Amino acid sequence: MGNAQQSVIVIGSGIGGSAIAAMLSHRGYKVTVLEKLNLIGGRCCSREREGFIIDLGVHTFSQSGAGPLGEVLRQCGRGDDAIAWTYTKNPTQKLNYLGKTVEFPKGIAKLGANADEYMGIMTKIVTMPLDEIEKLRHVGLAEWLRRQTKDQIIYNIFAYISELYFIVPPRRASAGEFIRSMQEQALKRASGYPTGGCKAIPQSYLDVVRDNGGTVEKNAPVRKILIENNAATGVELTSGEVIKADMVISNVDPGMTILKLAGEQYFPSDYAENVRAFTYTPGAFILKFALKEKITDEKFVMLIGHPNADEYLDMIENDLVPEKVNLMIPVISNLDPTTAPEGKQLIIAGSFPAIKPDWDAWEKAVLNSVKMVFPDIEKHIQFTESTTPEEVEKLVGEGGGVIGLAQNTEQVGSKRISQKTSVKNLYLVGSEAGGWGIGTELAANSALELNKMIP
Ligand SMILES: Cc1cc2nc3c(=O)[nH]c(=O)nc-3n(C[C@H](O)[C@H](O)[C@H](O)COP(=O)(O)OP(=O)(O)OC[C@H]3O[C@@H](n4cnc5c(N)ncnc54)[C@H](O)[C@@H]3O)c2cc1C
Repeated sequence: MGNAQQSVIVIGSGIGGSAIAAMLSHRGYKVTVLEKLNLIGGRCCSREREGFIIDLGVHTFSQSGAGPLGEVLRQCGRGDDAIAWTYTKNPTQKLNYLGKTVEFPKGIAKLGANADEYMGIMTKIVTMPLDEIEKLRHVGLAEWLRRQTKDQIIYNIFAYISELYFIVPPRRASAGEFIRSMQEQALKRASGYPTGGCKAIPQSYLDVVRDNGGTVEKNAPVRKILIENNAATGVELTSGEVIKADMVISNVDPGMTILKLAGEQYFPSDYAENVRAFTYTPGAFILKFALKEKITDEKFVMLIGHPNADEYLDMIENDLVPEKVNLMIPVISNLDPTTAPEGKQLIIAGSFPAIKPDWDAWEKAVLNSVKMVFPDIEKHIQFTESTTPEEVEKLVGEGGGVIGLAQNTEQVGSKRISQKTSVKNLYLVGSEAGGWGIGTELAANSALELNKMIP
């Protein structure tokens, strides 16, 4: 158990930072969270505009409270009611495939896909033992999928899910990481969204910190991690203020933490070299529709806009914007009515990955694709807002990427950078260090693993 005399500074209030802060404060550590922004939650933050609660990105949560995001709260002695979740089922999720909408997955035969083969692959995924999954950690998802099916529609569907999960094309995504993440999601059947916008999750973690006597400082950017005799001793803020602590945990990406905030001179040269060579996930283009009235009862729509997943991803990687793009479209205010004023509707469409910096072209492509699902959406717009990777970078940093350290075959499992560094009492946490799973759950798993490492 932690010692009440031991002080911990957590740099950053993203999911990983706020989760480890909550768990350590619950164990008796004296925790201070330092967040550079006036907002908490990092890439999982939300803001208000004209009565709408609008997330920075586009978020749904693979396992909601049933997964690692809820496990963090359980470890802090909080009940499952600490966050009120709504699930994306009821009505059943829809798939719009090249303009035709079906229930997913029940209706895929209507698209011409071999539904029995799809269900066979899903059964294989759901029942695969962990040791077998482990053997597929460093195998590409495309290679594994091609062994399971020759059906292009089925391949496109799994490739689309891989883009949503990891923002990594199936030829580079880890088959093992994909199967484990999908298995958990399918077994829990709890994909959903929290009441209060996605910021409700980090908020609930930081409530634990405050309830245990810890401190959360916003507008507190750290410019330096202090190291003496190969041990972290505190931080210096950009204001010049120095705060001493027995332990420093950084929720900022390893590139920034190791090479800049701490300084690479404190680490073995091959470690710093390795950090410099990491591959991060690209960003997404997000279009948010605040509507004057409700136009749909759907909760979650998947859209596949191109008939060949590999060609689609090649186009994007070669700086071309496809005419119709793949989208994840949660109808946020049907998941959480508090995110829109009475009678209005909030719909967010996210396209992953989005690389070319011609954002006008992306906006047009996303709007045209959304119109395949909601043809007259433009008539109902109160305002729209777009978010580009540059805007994510400007606000939270992390290169503007969606997830962080890419979950490709070279950067998963034992090949992931550990939360523990070679500097004593300096740790990393978040979707760039350790962990496994999807986005926020990767970051929460990173914190859960780190909580076990700290005595
Ligand atoms: C567009 C988009 C869509 C997404 N969709 C989903 C989804 O549907 N489902 C899902 O599960 N995940 C999704 N994600 C991914 C998920 O949001 C991230 O993987 C996760 O939130 C990252 O958490 P983290 O712990 O790494 O913290 P980060 O979000 O990286 O937060 C780091 C924090 O550190 C702060 N900070 C940085 N530098 C300093 C400094 N010097 N001093 C003090 N503070 C500092 C930042 O301001 C920030 O608050 C999405 C992300 C984006 C961008």
